Amino acid sequence: MQHIDDETLALLALGEDVLDDDARAHLSSCPECADAVARLARVVDAFDGADAADDLVAPDAAVWSRVQAELGLTGGTAAPPVVAPAAVADAPAGPTLPRAAAGPGTEDDGATGTAVVVPLAPRPRRVWVPVAAAAAAALVVGGVGGILWERREVEPPETTVASATLDPLPDWQGASGDARVEERPDGRRQVVVTVDAPVPDGTYREVWLLAEDLSGLVSLGVLDGTEGRFDVPDGLDLAEFPVVDVSEEHFDGDPSHSGDSVVRGPLDV
Ligand SMILES: [Zn+2]
Repeated sequence: MQHIDDETLALLALGEDVLDDDARAHLSSCPECADAVARLARVVDAFDGADAADDLVAPDAAVWSRVQAELGLTGGTAAPPVVAPAAVADAPAGPTLPRAAAGPGTEDDGATGTAVVVPLAPRPRRVWVPVAAAAAAALVVGGVGGILWERREVEPPETTVASATLDPLPDWQGASGDARVEERPDGRRQVVVTVDAPVPDGTYREVWLLAEDLSGLVSLGVLDGTEGRFDVPDGLDLAEFPVVDVSEEHFDGDPSHSGDSVVRGPLDV
């Protein structure tokens, strides 16, 4: 029969009754496996002393009040019960190697003649499960909140405060478009314009807000492509310039309206 596998040996060292009759017979007659179990058992023994350090301890009262503050709990919320005795402070330090034997290049110093199993020094882990759980919950809440906040930053909730259907002027039969005015929570307004019409070579589109009687106008900017978003200047009264107009412009250096409107429509302000 082959040797007992490592996992089974480890369970055996931990005191688990995992052997069937064949394995038990093998173990009793195989010095190699017996030795392996003995070595593992020494490791287990060495770690027994570390258990005390893992006991749960009560946190300082200030910790709970900080958790309460973080989670927005009301002042009356009592701290969860502590489930383990406080025994960490006196936990003994684990055995450590002498410095000479622990350092590099000291193998031939002969400081130790036998192999020493060095357990990890027990650390006073002041873990308190309810606090850890609350802190984890705070992290999750904070993380989700942060993600939502970032989305808010990227896509602020805009309200459409006015809209218009843009109809073609006589020279532009077949053209169409629409416009809407969006307002952000901070009061910033934008006009979103969509136009479906051919753009002849050597021309471009410009978006305007016109007075209803066409006595005045404000340029919002150049429309590149079929859709554009334009800031409405602060303080501009849309009721004074309620007509959205898209003109065909030529590269002639003249910043004024060409007089050749493609589509136009009144906002329902
Ligand atoms: Zn064996």
